[in-house]
Amino acid sequence: MAFLDQNPQIGYPLVAGLGLLVGSFLNVVILRLPRRMEWQWKRDSREMLGEPEIYDPPPPGIVVERSHCPHCGHQLSWYENIPVLSWLALRGRCRSCRAPISAQYPAVELLTMLLLLACVWTWGFGWQGFGASLLTCFLVALAGIDLRTQLLPDSLTLPLMWLGLIAAVENLYFGPKQALLGAIAGYVSLWSVWWLFKQLTGKEGMGHGDFKLLAALGAWCGLAGILPIILMSSLVGAVVGGAWLAIKGRDRATPIPFGPFLAIAGWIVFMWGDRIIGAYRDYAGF
Ligand SMILES: [Zn+2]
Repeated sequence: MAFLDQNPQIGYPLVAGLGLLVGSFLNVVILRLPRRMEWQWKRDSREMLGEPEIYDPPPPGIVVERSHCPHCGHQLSWYENIPVLSWLALRGRCRSCRAPISAQYPAVELLTMLLLLACVWTWGFGWQGFGASLLTCFLVALAGIDLRTQLLPDSLTLPLMWLGLIAAVENLYFGPKQALLGAIAGYVSLWSVWWLFKQLTGKEGMGHGDFKLLAALGAWCGLAGILPIILMSSLVGAVVGGAWLAIKGRDRATPIPFGPFLAIAGWIVFMWGDRIIGAYRDYAGF
């Protein structure tokens, strides 16, 4: 890692290439993890209700199974599976059946590459940069899954919180007290909003996954990061959500996932929170 720090001309291309490959893997997680969860829920429900076992083969696993075209089942060979390049070369269509391939694939790959480059640019090639990259990958997967399915899987939010707490035990970005208080404040603040909203309107305005995601972000950004994350995500969420509803013309009860806004705000505060809070202090004069 010290070698990469001294030779950034090798380090950055290496991280860019890795970023594309990791983005390719995150695509698979975004598509397959929710299907896996749904399958598991159905099986658990049948068991709880005492219904007879039916034949229900599991959906493809996340790591083991190879990618194939969802339309015709054509299995992708290695040269159809190269991040971004294959999609461009095939002009976004399956080689076998010409069905369009979602632009989500190259978009997630490019996004992951750029975000990981920003991580090592800001935090260096050591453990801090590695931790930042890990957080980034979790956030890309969570935002993608929430956008597609309005779910924030516990199997991602909870490990992300533990990883943040472990990083703080090692004083990677700050100490454990900041991280623990951040996680608690993250959970309790959104839970209170949810509870109040429910008392006032009788509706559930938010999913429990949102509390857990903000708890995880609290572990990574510390107690001081919680308020900026809530302010930024609500503001961006209100603007983007409002524009979305205006374009789509649906009524205001249409659920809009809040997780992607939390993920974006959390990432920005994690990366540059000190500078943002510092600039605000200078501006407000305290
Ligand atoms: Zn096909």
